[in-house]
Amino acid sequence: MPIHLTRLNLDGTCSPKPLLGGSSLPDDVKASVGLGGVNRWEDVLTVQRLLNGTPPEQGGPVPKLPEDGIVSQRLILAIAAFQRKQVGWSDGRVDPGGETIRRLQAINEMPAGKPSLAPLAVESIPAALAMIFLARAHLMNARFAFAGGGGLFASVYASAAALVNKHFHLDRAVSPLSALDMVDGIFSKMQLAIGHVPAGTWVFEDDPSQPPDVAYAFTYWGGYLFMTGKSERRREGLFWLDRIYLCRRLVSYDRDTIVYAMIHELAHFVGGALGTSDEVDDWAYAHRPTGYETLAPYRAVRNADCYSQYAWEVSRHVAYRHDAHRV
Ligand SMILES: [Zn+2]
Repeated sequence: MPIHLTRLNLDGTCSPKPLLGGSSLPDDVKASVGLGGVNRWEDVLTVQRLLNGTPPEQGGPVPKLPEDGIVSQRLILAIAAFQRKQVGWSDGRVDPGGETIRRLQAINEMPAGKPSLAPLAVESIPAALAMIFLARAHLMNARFAFAGGGGLFASVYASAAALVNKHFHLDRAVSPLSALDMVDGIFSKMQLAIGHVPAGTWVFEDDPSQPPDVAYAFTYWGGYLFMTGKSERRREGLFWLDRIYLCRRLVSYDRDTIVYAMIHELAHFVGGALGTSDEVDDWAYAHRPTGYETLAPYRAVRNADCYSQYAWEVSRHVAYRHDAHRV
C-alpha cells in the first residue's frame, strides 16, 4: 500500500511532508545565503524553511517561498524584507553567526514553557467529538430531505440539505443518498478513532521532527487502518502511520485551530490510503479560489476541507477562517 504523509500548513492548505528518515534538518547555515552568497543547497533550503516559518507580521514572506534549495530573486527580496522588519537594515544575505540567522532561529524556536501539545489535543477531543456528533445529526436531517420526506419538519430538513449541498454538492450527485452514506461513514470513523479511551487519546502525538515542522499538523492518508489493528503497526522514519502529529506552532493559535486541524487531519486519517477509491484528498479549499464551489460531488465527498468546513459551519454557523486564530 503506498503511503502518503500530508501536512496541514499554516495557510490552511496541505502539502506532502518529506520523510526525514530519522535524520535531523539543521536550522543553521554553514556559509552565506542570498545576494553574493556562497548559496550551498542545504543552507538555502534552511533559510527558505526558516523564512516560511516566520509569520508575515514578523517579516515572513507572502506567499511562501518554494523550499527547493535554489537561490532566487524572490528569496533575496524575502531576506531583505525580513531584515528591514527585524534588524533595521538589509543586504539580502544571511551570514553564518550573523544577526539575520539569529533572528530567524529565535522566531522559529518553540515558544518557551509549552513543551507538549498532546495533552491540549486530548483536552480538545470532547469539542471535536461534539462537532462530529452534530455534523452526523445534521446529515441525518438532510437525509430525510434527499429521501423526499419531510412532513412537519420539511423546512428543517431542507435547510440541512442546503448546507450539505453547499459543501458536498450532493444536489449534483448521481446518487445523493449513497454519497451521503460516504460522508457519514467518514464522520463515523472519526468518532471511532478518537472517541474511545484510552486508544483515542493516543492518536495525537507531538511532532518529532527536528527542527519542528512549521505547520499545524500532519498525518498519513488511511493511517486509521493501522490503528484498528487490521494492519500491523508501521513507521516511516520518525513517524508512526497510526498517529496524527501536532506541530509546535499550534501553541501560537487558539483552541479552535486545534479542533479544526483535528477534524481536517482525521478526514485524511480515516479515509482510504493513497490510490484507493475512498482516499480523502485535498482537491480544493474553501478559503482559496481553487474551485471549492464547483467540485464534482465525487471529489467533494473525498476532500478533507469539505469535512472540516461543513462540521464547523454546522456547529458555529460561520465558515472557519484561517487568519483569525493567532493568539
Ligand atoms: Zn488536507
